Amino acid sequence: MNELETIRHSAAHVLATALLELWPEAQFAAGPPVEQGFYYDVELPHRISPDDFAKIEEKVAAIQKARQPFVRSEVSRAEAEVLAKAGRLAALGNRPEASKFKLDILQRIPDGETISLFTNGSFVDLCAGPHVPDTGKIGAFKLTHVASAYYKGDERNPQLQRIYGIAFATQKELDEHFAMIEEAKKRDHRKLGKELQLFTFDEDVGPGLPLWLPKGGVLIEELERLAKETEFAAGYQRVRTPHIAREMLYKTSGHLPYYAESMFPPMELEEEKGGEKVVYYLKAMNCPHHHKIFGALPRSYRELPLRFAEYGTCYRYEQSGELLGLMRVRCMQMNDAHIYCTEEQFAAEFRAVNEMYLKYFKIFGIEKFRMRFSTHDPAKLGEKYVNEPELWLKTEDMVRRVLVESGIDFVEVPNEGAFYGPKIDVQVWSAIGREFTLATNQVDFAVPRRFGLEYTTSANTKETPLCIHRAPLGTHERFIGFLIEHFAGSFPTWLSPEQVRILPITEEQVPFAEELAAELRAKMIRVSVDGSREKLGAKIRLAQVEKTPYMVVLGKNEVSNGQLSVRSRKRGDVGGDLGLMDRATFLARIESEIRERSIAS
Ligand SMILES: [Zn+2]
Ligand SMILES: [Zn+2]
Repeated sequence: MNELETIRHSAAHVLATALLELWPEAQFAAGPPVEQGFYYDVELPHRISPDDFAKIEEKVAAIQKARQPFVRSEVSRAEAEVLAKAGRLAALGNRPEASKFKLDILQRIPDGETISLFTNGSFVDLCAGPHVPDTGKIGAFKLTHVASAYYKGDERNPQLQRIYGIAFATQKELDEHFAMIEEAKKRDHRKLGKELQLFTFDEDVGPGLPLWLPKGGVLIEELERLAKETEFAAGYQRVRTPHIAREMLYKTSGHLPYYAESMFPPMELEEEKGGEKVVYYLKAMNCPHHHKIFGALPRSYRELPLRFAEYGTCYRYEQSGELLGLMRVRCMQMNDAHIYCTEEQFAAEFRAVNEMYLKYFKIFGIEKFRMRFSTHDPAKLGEKYVNEPELWLKTEDMVRRVLVESGIDFVEVPNEGAFYGPKIDVQVWSAIGREFTLATNQVDFAVPRRFGLEYTTSANTKETPLCIHRAPLGTHERFIGFLIEHFAGSFPTWLSPEQVRILPITEEQVPFAEELAAELRAKMIRVSVDGSREKLGAKIRLAQVEKTPYMVVLGKNEVSNGQLSVRSRKRGDVGGDLGLMDRATFLARIESEIRERSIAS
């Protein structure tokens, strides 16, 4: 547990203490810290509602103020059982009913393991710790919501109330957390996506299958342009593959049968060949197709590394309850590429992939990011992980070395690797501090062998290449969902669906406005003319609401002296009236901003 988790787990003990002061009969199960705070599962005839939160929090505050020390003690299994049967665990004193869940948890602790209790005041809990020194060290505490959960997640078990709370070391952090949640609601990609007309969903098309409106289509075009330029410069080659493939392909790759649940159901076709049934699947990943492209020609070491890139569309059957706007969809366009290389080339290739990430983070103003490096567990070789102990250690070591050398912030997570190699999840934080997992990289030393991929070495022998799977911009769906929140819909000029709006003050200036628009369009600048009869103030407000980066106001004077009155979209204190400029100055300004993919405006 890290420091914050320790605070939050300690807060769970204090929550239980407070609940028992109100309802001494409460029976507690598990109370772990979770990503967004902590919870404690409790069985209690009284149905806890947010109406109860104030009085619970009052009790909590008193316990915090009392600075009760958290005291650890070790007991034998027999001693712990006596306490559980006396109702004394997760309780303030002995009770008529046994502490039944704690008794069950106790009985599942393996023989030989130390059994420890933590006590604060008269509350005793079965717990491995760790905890903060005393209840005064918990800092700011707030209950958030109640849900229900079955004991151990099994619906045959009793249903419990899961009481969620959040705790931080300081009140300031807690306030910032709630302010961030409020701001995130305003920036919610589903809300802004609708207001800005970026994408939509339709019942007849199906849940989780986004339709991109023209403005969303621009975002996609611009992201692909960025990826294509960047990948071209980095020596990638573009390939194209179909959206479906025969069952055999996914059997070879190992997706079938293990991954079948996440794939759309098969299509059975009576094929030409003697009426024999042939089964096709929608592709859930691009890798198998790319492997086939590698295998399509004899390959020599001289060609390596080979880097195949494709914005490939994949289909995954997410449960309908798990679909969430653009964040969880059933159809996704992935910034995919597979790099086939020799072992000697691996470090340089992997380093280059990391550098590409850093370049993108800079372009999008992503200041906080972290790589989660997931490795294997030697005890699970042959079941959870392909049984190649030496390859695992060697590849993990190569990855670790590159991460350390490039000074990238990373955490190593044991026993979470992919089946066929170590995995790197990239977490980024949006401008308001909310975390997103954007992309996953994998090092694959097993699947190329399953596909029989090989190249001829300089010694004229055959070797299997390593394969790096990488997708720095993730999928369009998730990345755009992130960008909407990150920029609150005010995309930088190069990315904005509409870059300039021309606002003629009266109808008289409309022809001049159209002529200017044509000139901008010829330079590939996305421009529109607001020729409506609205007053100028209303036209400016509308462009501002629609987050158009530049507004050009045209009145009688501007037309006669050939000047443009330019305004930039206001974001906080930045932007507003830029005054008069001639056409050439304005064009030079906006063109360089677009070319540089500047984030400044
Ligand atoms: Zn504990
Ligand atoms: Zn892949």
